[in-house]
Amino acid sequence: MVASRVYLVEWVGDNLSRAFAMKLPKIVEDVASSFEKLPGIGRRSALRLAFYLLRMPQRDLEMFGMSLTNLKKQTKLCTICHNLTDSDQCTVCSDQSRDNSLVCVVESFQDVIALEKSGSYKGLYHVLHGSISPLNNVGPEELFIDTLIKRVKSGGVKEVILSTNTSLEGEATALYIKQALDGCDVIITRIGRGLPTGVEIEYADEVTLHQALLTRRAVS
Ligand SMILES: [Zn+2]
Repeated sequence: MVASRVYLVEWVGDNLSRAFAMKLPKIVEDVASSFEKLPGIGRRSALRLAFYLLRMPQRDLEMFGMSLTNLKKQTKLCTICHNLTDSDQCTVCSDQSRDNSLVCVVESFQDVIALEKSGSYKGLYHVLHGSISPLNNVGPEELFIDTLIKRVKSGGVKEVILSTNTSLEGEATALYIKQALDGCDVIITRIGRGLPTGVEIEYADEVTLHQALLTRRAVS
């Protein structure tokens, strides 16, 4: 019974084009439709992943499902920098050895991971959760810019390093923040040379990020 089911699953998996013509169990369709909602996953890949899951031991499958169910329930945003965490403050903000007079402004969690991997930065972060993009209806009020301004105004921050992407949206966001912080007693710098125009921090290599941080320049 089990062997024949595995055979069937493999047969279907290996004959996807023919499988499209056959009516699949509803639950398989449901799982495939969920995968199709992920970026870069088309119908064919979604079915392949669903069939792959069918071959996994039941216990592993249940753990997989449980992790998905708990993903949002067991994560939150750091109350200081809006980085991803499972407690009130993220591991960076709660690390007493970090320099809390430096705040590096980034667009996403992934940028924090990339900069941390470069090992060159010992200050804190501020995660905006996007960039200003009028074409996508994202204005400054949709981002965590107001909390950055409050954070700077509450004192203790000596330098704000604008490390948004070097895309059009990233540059516009950096400029907006620079203007919003006008009049505050803080040095504002922009991540430096080495980052070609249009590059996303998330995908920059560690050496480039290290250089970019070292060569940051004051924004006039
Ligand atoms: Zn934090």
